[in-house]
Amino acid sequence: MTCILAGSPVESKTCDCELFTYLSKMQFSGNRTKKSRRTVTLTGGRNEKQYPHNLQFYKIPPTETVSLEEFETFAIDRLKVLKSVESAGIKYMKTSEQYQTKLEQDIKKLMPIAVRKTDVDGGVQDKDYDDRRKDHISHFILRLAYCKSEDLRRWFLTQEMDLFRFRFQQESKDAIGHFLQLNNLDYQPIPEEEKKALRDELKSSSYEMKGDKFETTDFYKVPFQEALDLVRARKVYLKKGYVYVPQSELVSIILSAFRENLSKALAVTARALPYLQEDERLLKRLANLHTQYLGQDYSNRKSTAGKVAPEDIEPLSKKSFPLCMRNLQETLRREHHLRHGGRMQYGLFLKGIGLQLEDALRFWRSEFTKMMDGDKFDKSYSYNIRHNYGKEGKRTDYTPYSCMKVIMTNAPAVGDHHGCPFRHTDPELLKQRLQGYRVNTTGVQEIIELVKGGHYQLACTKYFEITHNVDDAGFGLNHPNQYFEESQKVLNGGHVPKTAPRTPSTQRSKPIKKETEDFDDDFPMDEVEHLLTASQDVVGEVAPE
Ligand code: SF4
Repeated sequence: MTCILAGSPVESKTCDCELFTYLSKMQFSGNRTKKSRRTVTLTGGRNEKQYPHNLQFYKIPPTETVSLEEFETFAIDRLKVLKSVESAGIKYMKTSEQYQTKLEQDIKKLMPIAVRKTDVDGGVQDKDYDDRRKDHISHFILRLAYCKSEDLRRWFLTQEMDLFRFRFQQESKDAIGHFLQLNNLDYQPIPEEEKKALRDELKSSSYEMKGDKFETTDFYKVPFQEALDLVRARKVYLKKGYVYVPQSELVSIILSAFRENLSKALAVTARALPYLQEDERLLKRLANLHTQYLGQDYSNRKSTAGKVAPEDIEPLSKKSFPLCMRNLQETLRREHHLRHGGRMQYGLFLKGIGLQLEDALRFWRSEFTKMMDGDKFDKSYSYNIRHNYGKEGKRTDYTPYSCMKVIMTNAPAVGDHHGCPFRHTDPELLKQRLQGYRVNTTGVQEIIELVKGGHYQLACTKYFEITHNVDDAGFGLNHPNQYFEESQKVLNGGHVPKTAPRTPSTQRSKPIKKETEDFDDDFPMDEVEHLLTASQDVVGEVAPE
């Protein structure tokens, strides 16, 4: 048996690092009591020794009682923190003051210890304990959610490293020393005599060592293999196989250790994840975590209901739709058909911007019936549209897809047109398409750079800025419907237009068949399969307790 989170093999019921205990103590059995439905019970209680420092290497998993409510809140809060880390990192240089300020502003409420120095002499106060516990548990929850694919692991690792770097840099010299000691990282500052003897070499090794900075900086003597990044960037003095690392660069070395630990743990967790299959309570929560949308809910909003009529869609698509939806609109107009993934993505988006059910039926019907007769449309497709509006099947009010969901799940196959063009279109093709939309050469280059760096939402934000002629979009893009609303604000002088809600069309389509009446013989099987999957795939749907 392997310990799922640390990755070490375990022969008995316990693991040296207690990671095995973490899972074995969770109430995974099928015979759950009412209480066990509400909590994920681990061993132990408050243990102050567990959290001696604000910073952690997350080597030991939590061994406490975690309620399912906490489980969800902790996970979502950390996800918001990591999203803030991502957007700050793209907007500003990671060494710049703006980056520090922006990140501090964005995360101080969700993660106060990220901006609070460790009080080495003050012991563990209540607020420290609670914040450190949350930090610890939330990291391990997201580790479970983000170990599943290469893309997810890479994203999680990058954001966790950036967060760790930011937090490390907030700490005082004493707190850093304490952290190194706690983690057996044997990096000691060189004695004053050695520092004086190497004064000239050390001063000239870094452009930061101007004025009296040199006098107040500690240098650490480290084997050069542990500081390859710094050697490569010629940021350190190298002598006889050792480099002399100024305190400000020590974080690079600590980060290498952090990266090594975490990437190994993620790979091992991914392999061991099937052990979790026993507990559907956790599985359901983990399954959609990486696609969770963290902003507004755009499902069937009363404020927009009826604002968009079928005839508005084509002109709006050119001005205010994000590329993913503009692409679907163009395909629909060209081919008079969209496969299931496209209909779900586009249909829910249109619902979110205010297209009402009767109008949606009219809109899809008018396109589809250019290549099939009305009966075929009513039999095979209108059910799906009514289903999206919660009028069929489970009667769930489906939520429009967030960017994360579009980007991370259900990648388009050949013949599909759904997905995010910044993520799923070949960069050369994307370039041509952007040029076709009159994005200037510099703009195209900037967008492609962001795409190549895997920053799809930021590439989309850049596209927004260029096509709306604004310097700074001023929002963090999370959702195609958010893109639409922000676009309308810009185009209407800062406000979403206040048109009176339209009375929905009174034209009714032919009677709609019930779910159990099934589809006609030539209804494509992949449509049925998708439909069934979609019915289980409601963003934000909470599993019954
Ligand atoms: Fe659509 Fe979001 Fe991709 Fe933009 S980033 S194209 S809004 S999925």
